Amino acid sequence: VGVEAQALVDGRHLLVTPGMVNAHTHSPEALRRGAIDATLLQPWFESVWRRLDALDPEEIALAVQLCAAEMLRSGVTAVVDHFRQSPLSMRTTAAVARAWNETGLRATLALMLRDRAWPAWAAAPAPTTGALLELCTDAARQWHEPSGTLRVALGPSAPTRCSDELLRGCARLAGDAGLHVHMHCDETTEEAALARAMYGRSAVAHLGGLELLGPGVSLAHAVWVDEDDIAHLAASGTAVVHNPVSNLRLGSGRAPLERFLAQGVRVAIGSDGAASNDTQNVREALKTAILLPRIVLREPGEWPTVYDALRMATACPAAAFGLGSGTLAAGEPADFACYDLREPAFSPVNDLHAQFVLAGPGLAARHVVVAGRMVLYEGEILTFDESRTLAGAQALAA
Ligand SMILES: [Zn+2]
Repeated sequence: VGVEAQALVDGRHLLVTPGMVNAHTHSPEALRRGAIDATLLQPWFESVWRRLDALDPEEIALAVQLCAAEMLRSGVTAVVDHFRQSPLSMRTTAAVARAWNETGLRATLALMLRDRAWPAWAAAPAPTTGALLELCTDAARQWHEPSGTLRVALGPSAPTRCSDELLRGCARLAGDAGLHVHMHCDETTEEAALARAMYGRSAVAHLGGLELLGPGVSLAHAVWVDEDDIAHLAASGTAVVHNPVSNLRLGSGRAPLERFLAQGVRVAIGSDGAASNDTQNVREALKTAILLPRIVLREPGEWPTVYDALRMATACPAAAFGLGSGTLAAGEPADFACYDLREPAFSPVNDLHAQFVLAGPGLAARHVVVAGRMVLYEGEILTFDESRTLAGAQALAA
């Protein structure tokens, strides 16, 4: 109603699905995909981020476009960019906000914060806790638009990389300004052990004590949580973002997806950054997510299903990040993707849901609409010049 048609599309051979959400990535890493293989998380940090921690605005825009191109083709309409630069500044935040706006995707910009364990290679000293919270307040005032396509969120790097003062400040600011809080938690066994050594209890229990669990909070990874943590996450309504490909890639371990689902934890899917994946393809992450538990669970009835996978990419992240219901229905955001049913992945059609998840990591969307706007049409991105982006990235690498 009140919207003019932009294009008339022949839908007779199309499958139309709700747009998927990639609930955890780090856009700058698109410039370092494939660069550092066979490395654990800790040494990986320095290898990857020493070169990415101080990008200029043009490089940030290139990285965002690289992510957007791949995500749009995989049928993603919304992303949570846990955006890291050390130090974070209004200049780089403006660059990433502008870049996401130009792609046409919905983006939640979770500004990565840390006032502990500051990277040794960072050009400037660690910012003060107050300066970080002030920057987030200013960024939210400038770019947080819940009714539009861009939101600002608070993104503590991980509980152990932040002072309790910073974490409490995030809880306060989240409440005052209505911002989501997104952070890494218990990604590796070392990090989980460090939290226990620092706090005398698990990271999840510590976050609960700081009032940093709840429906407005999401934790990426949660690989090394125990049953008490899982119960705490479920009871508080905290979402977990599962990144199975990244966790495998960095040898971090396997998050207990089947326990999350059995206990009623809300689970979203993430690719994680392209330097630890190395794609931004959410359907590949979904397929991995539901196959991985089969290594350890002998009873097929316990295996997560393709329907669990589809909810992890639509309804669950939509609820967690305030993006409607994640379904195709009147009154919902007009975020959807169209696929050609004549593709090999759907030939023959035996079970559309299973084929969408299991046959289709390489399946590309034909059209993508975000917030009622055609962003990808006949396989071509309409919002930016993709060939220029690819050439720019190649020139930068050289
Ligand atoms: Zn991450």
